[in-house]
Amino acid sequence: MFNEARLKLTLWYLLILMLISFGFSVVIYKVLDSELNRFSFAQRMRLENRFREFRNPNFEYSPRLFMTPDLVDETRKRIVLFLFLINGGILVAGGTLSYFLAGKTLKPIEEMVSQQKQFISDASHEFKTPLASLKTSLEVALRDKNLDLAESKRVLKDNLVEVERLQKLTENLLVLSRYEAEGKGKRNLSRVNFSLIFDEALRRVKPLLKAKGIRLKKDIRDVEFLVDAESMVELLVVLLDNAIKYSYKKGIVEVVSYAKRNFLFFEVKDYGIGIKPEDQKHIFDRFYRADSSRQSNERQGFGIGLSLAKRIVEKHKGEIFVKSKFGKGSVFVVKIPLSS
Ligand code: ADP
Repeated sequence: MFNEARLKLTLWYLLILMLISFGFSVVIYKVLDSELNRFSFAQRMRLENRFREFRNPNFEYSPRLFMTPDLVDETRKRIVLFLFLINGGILVAGGTLSYFLAGKTLKPIEEMVSQQKQFISDASHEFKTPLASLKTSLEVALRDKNLDLAESKRVLKDNLVEVERLQKLTENLLVLSRYEAEGKGKRNLSRVNFSLIFDEALRRVKPLLKAKGIRLKKDIRDVEFLVDAESMVELLVVLLDNAIKYSYKKGIVEVVSYAKRNFLFFEVKDYGIGIKPEDQKHIFDRFYRADSSRQSNERQGFGIGLSLAKRIVEKHKGEIFVKSKFGKGSVFVVKIPLSS
């Protein structure tokens, strides 16, 4: 599909180039032709003047002194030939260059389309398993003639949990696709204090902290930075949510923020299950989940949070990285320019 588009675009580029080149050739030919005519006319005038001097015995006639009609025609032909050769050269060189340029123009579009295809196939894959298990459990319940009220309620409750998970997945996918579609586009920037961002993020994850009995330690500096406040809250929620999710019960999560050389740094640290070095390279990829986090039912996720976090950080021209020891815990460090 892209090769076909590339060829079409090449032809369009080439057509435009050749039209311009042909237009210029016609203009050049016209100008040179009128110059030739002017020149031969001037020569003829000079010739006539010389004839008048014929009586002068010292005058020697030589055809080379004059631009004869034959010579004018020959020069005209040579100009036409020359222009044809130049246009031929432009056709060949322009064709090659156009093909190269068409490839370069289409490359980002090709990448975007293939990313979108990948996104759709990954997302459908994520939906497939929970939907299949929902369907099976409902079918089994319907076929069971002795199903009592208590058992039906249990099935419904289980299914509701699964539906809620799917709902969360849909929300996350929508947010992620919004960020991907925005790319480096518009942002809703405002000057905010990091402590406000932190308070809002904390409010959103408080129920999770409580449910797991996690203690939160914080050392937050009052630093103002120019950011999209809602995205920053989302970013911090992802990191806090993970820190809580992958901590052991009654563990500790620490949040530190400080400003250094025109950057705001913040770190979210936990003493939980940690991440193996081979997984650390992939955790920011969409839908990637380390095996260690898949093992526990309690740590359910979709592998979207960190890819979302990365997009948000990139949008602010910042950086995010992880330091982790498997079995000991992890720290996620975010660096954002104070006026991104
Ligand atoms: P998920 O919804 O699975 O948590 P994320 O994109 O947020 O998705 O994280 C991707 C993977 O990175 C997780 O599945 C987990 O394996 C690993 N991970 C992220 N944060 C932590 C953490 N604080 N401790 C241990 N592993 C983590």
